Amino acid sequence: MKKILILTTGGTIASVQSPDGLVPGMSSEQLRGHLPQIGARIAIDIRELFQMDSTDMTADHWVAIVRAIRESYDDYDGFVVCHGTDTMAYTAAVLSYMIRDSDKPIVLTGAQRPIGFEITDAKSNLQDSILYAADPRSRGVQIVFAGKVIAGTRARKVRSMSFSAFASINLPEIAEINNGRIIRYLTDPAFCRGESDAKATALFSDQIDPKVFLLKLTPSMSPELLPEIFRVNDAVVIESFGAGGIPASMEGTLTEVLSGYRPEEKILAMTTQVTYEGSHLETYEVGRRLAGSFSILEARDMTLESAVAKLMWILADRSLSWEEIQRRFYEPIAKDTLIEVSPSPRTR
Ligand code: ASP
Repeated sequence: MKKILILTTGGTIASVQSPDGLVPGMSSEQLRGHLPQIGARIAIDIRELFQMDSTDMTADHWVAIVRAIRESYDDYDGFVVCHGTDTMAYTAAVLSYMIRDSDKPIVLTGAQRPIGFEITDAKSNLQDSILYAADPRSRGVQIVFAGKVIAGTRARKVRSMSFSAFASINLPEIAEINNGRIIRYLTDPAFCRGESDAKATALFSDQIDPKVFLLKLTPSMSPELLPEIFRVNDAVVIESFGAGGIPASMEGTLTEVLSGYRPEEKILAMTTQVTYEGSHLETYEVGRRLAGSFSILEARDMTLESAVAKLMWILADRSLSWEEIQRRFYEPIAKDTLIEVSPSPRTR
């Protein structure tokens, strides 16, 4: 018999209607009462970690989720984390870095409508997640939602109301679950175990650096906050326009600010606000100018959620050199990037 541990954190799936709107308020025992029929071959335990809206998710909660999985890792065949949808993509990315090489599946799921409502996606999402987590071929961190299985490093919430809330960015979906049947599209070893595969040992990290700031550019943005943003953060990820670049009006301030720090002290990374296909600084003069003047990391085809999460994970160790930070950022993990990048020798 397969043993699955469900960890609950709150979110819409476990919410109830209050006079002030939906609030997470369902205990794990109440949730158990709503569990769909799974059949006798899967044993399920439920443990409540938090009862919160995922808007309030912090680095401490991520560490608590990782610890809960690590403590029970040997006792279960798979894990399902019930989570609010709003920050689920960040949590999925963070878990992909904090728990690497897991032979056991760690599935995140949630719902757009509470499990106690008459019309809800919660039951099918939970049922699919449990089936997927109990499948002997599943491994690694994934989101299971609305019949899609998405790599933890590639998910983005793309709909705020309707059931198909998540998309897989710059990587095909790993699988589809249809009427309880798993149809696998990607059999990459990051997500799918072969019968003869040797056992891997999961690598857990239990530290993370939350001081990573995501700055979305808008035309005509004033650079005056840049010194403060860099002062209070260890890394700034700039969500640029299109293939990437910095407006000329910000360059002077950026040069001034960064000249006061070593590259490993304050990390500058570039991503794009365009959903698909990633950044490519080489394409335009504005991007080349940036790459030519600063020590910079480029997220390329990584999602911005993964770029932020990866930096938080890397910078948990503040003793790393700029070369080592680059090496770790560009090293593909759980299919977070398909592009090979050689680190640049430039130092600020
Ligand atoms: N605000 C909720 C949350 O993220 C939304 C949801 O779960 O769908 O916790």
